[in-house]
Amino acid sequence: QAVIMKRASSILKEVFGYDSFRPFQREVIDNVLSRRDTLAVLPTGAGKSLCYQIPALVFEKLSVVVSPLIALMNDQVQQLRAAGVPAVMLNSSLSPQEYQRNIDALQKGDARILYVAPETLLSPRVTDLLASLPLDLLTIDEAHCISDWGHDFRPEYRQIAAVRRRFPRAVCLALTATATERVRHDILTALGLDEAAQFVAGFDRPNLFIEVLPKQNALTQTLRFLEERRDQAGIIYCFSRRQVDDLAAALVQKGFSARPYHAGLGDAERAANQEAFLRDDIQIIVATIAFGMGINKPNVRFVIHYDLPKSIEGYYQEIGRAGRDGLPSHCLLLYSYGDVAKLRHFIDQKEEDERLVALEHLDALVRFAEQHAGCRRIPLLRYFGEEPTSTRCDRCDNCTSPTATLVDMTENAQKLL
Ligand code: ADP
Ligand code: MG
Repeated sequence: QAVIMKRASSILKEVFGYDSFRPFQREVIDNVLSRRDTLAVLPTGAGKSLCYQIPALVFEKLSVVVSPLIALMNDQVQQLRAAGVPAVMLNSSLSPQEYQRNIDALQKGDARILYVAPETLLSPRVTDLLASLPLDLLTIDEAHCISDWGHDFRPEYRQIAAVRRRFPRAVCLALTATATERVRHDILTALGLDEAAQFVAGFDRPNLFIEVLPKQNALTQTLRFLEERRDQAGIIYCFSRRQVDDLAAALVQKGFSARPYHAGLGDAERAANQEAFLRDDIQIIVATIAFGMGINKPNVRFVIHYDLPKSIEGYYQEIGRAGRDGLPSHCLLLYSYGDVAKLRHFIDQKEEDERLVALEHLDALVRFAEQHAGCRRIPLLRYFGEEPTSTRCDRCDNCTSPTATLVDMTENAQKLL
């Protein structure tokens, strides 16, 4: 599976030109590629399309995507073709010639992704054709249309359920941006996805308190923070392996049960430290970003960024490991101009293309960190394409104590970028 996910990452980069997954993309793709049925509820703009497009390129046979939005279907097929992916569509907007050409392509095994409108999928001609082809993946986009409890019920969608049963070998992925508990239940029942893995994300994580402090004496600041949280589990992210080792040692010396985690440790030690953290045998894991992927520990009460992360994506993914149980959890970012300069130094050694992307990521993060007025959730949510529903969250430092502590650093860092 690790090899397959490597493949997925390189497709993300090489075919789609992105260098990191958005929240939940990796998890969903990982599940689909393990051939587990999956329901993903991710907000609009989250990047649901990649959740089937990447598996479609890893799988060897055909992947089918049911979508009610013909205009969108056309866009996606164009984009995929432009990226060199053999994609076709079948819907009522096609001329008879185009339709036949696409059918031929499918029969010859020339297509990897088929976009199909629900009513087209239900036509016996198409159902029979598909039943004769090896199908790896059946994706139901806008799956809430299956449910009459949703805001967009479509009777043809209901019947897809029957079609699904004709492709028992294909893994099924249902996608939607909006699904209440009830709608989710309807989707799962209608499609017979009894054992599906479910991923449900609004990007907002209201139980996470978000704080950014000017980094002065990081160790002292961290100890002060930890003193008030003696019995709470947490993750501290550092930039370098050396910093991880030093900080873990310093915390142990101060009487905290902490262990390091980074790629420089032996496999056995790394696994043991992770295990100890997951089992609550130790309180704190001090780590590089090597730690956390696929970890599900519900009671992580805090995440400290001891050093500046490289991007908002990274930052959000890392703080997202706190409070999976829904209970209040604290995310502290120690921000300094020196860290911006340090990251900038690393970025300057990259190839031009990579350098520009990295700079953009850093720039977005700096703007987020230096925003000393206004709710911090607003830029975060907007970054992921979600429009905040409120102008203040009361769960970030700016909302609860609006002071302008970062003003001094702002100019310096911005000059640097
Ligand atoms: P959804 O179906 O959730 O509404 P889309 O799949 O249409 O979202 O993606 C929304 C936008 O986000 C698209 O422009 C897409 O190219 C972009 N996108 C998706 N995944 C990533 C990623 N990992 N990194 C950067 N951009 C991404
Ligand atoms: Mg979509």
